[in-house]
Amino acid sequence: MLGVNLMNIAIGICEKVNGICTTMGCFKAFNNKEKYFKSYKNEEINLSSFFTCQICSSESKDWVNELADRFVKNNIFKVHIGVCIVKCKAEKKEEIVNIFKSKGIKVIEGTH
Ligand code: SF4
Repeated sequence: MLGVNLMNIAIGICEKVNGICTTMGCFKAFNNKEKYFKSYKNEEINLSSFFTCQICSSESKDWVNELADRFVKNNIFKVHIGVCIVKCKAEKKEEIVNIFKSKGIKVIEGTH
C-alpha cells in the first residue's frame, strides 16, 4: 500500500542537457523500477525531486548545499545522479557527491 515504507528519491541531472535530453530515460527506469532502480522492486518509491546542480551557471556549490539541506528536512535520503552528472565535463561529480554524503544522503551513480 502506498505510504507504507515509502522511500523518497531525488534524481539529479546536468543543466547542460536541457534542450538536448527528454529525461524520459530517467523516468522510464524509475517508473518501471529497472536499471539503477531495480533494487527498489519490493519497495514503494516516490520521486520527490528532479533537479539540476546549477554549478556551472552559478559558479557556486550553494544550490547543491541548499538542495541537500532541503532534502534532509523533507526525508529524502537517496539521490540518483544521471550519467550526465556522473560524466560531468566540469569534473564536479565528486564535489556534488560529497556534499550529499556529508549530509547523510546516499548517492547512487546512475539512473538508466
Ligand atoms: S557542474 Fe557538471 S553536472 Fe553541474 S551543470 Fe556543470 S557540467 Fe553539469
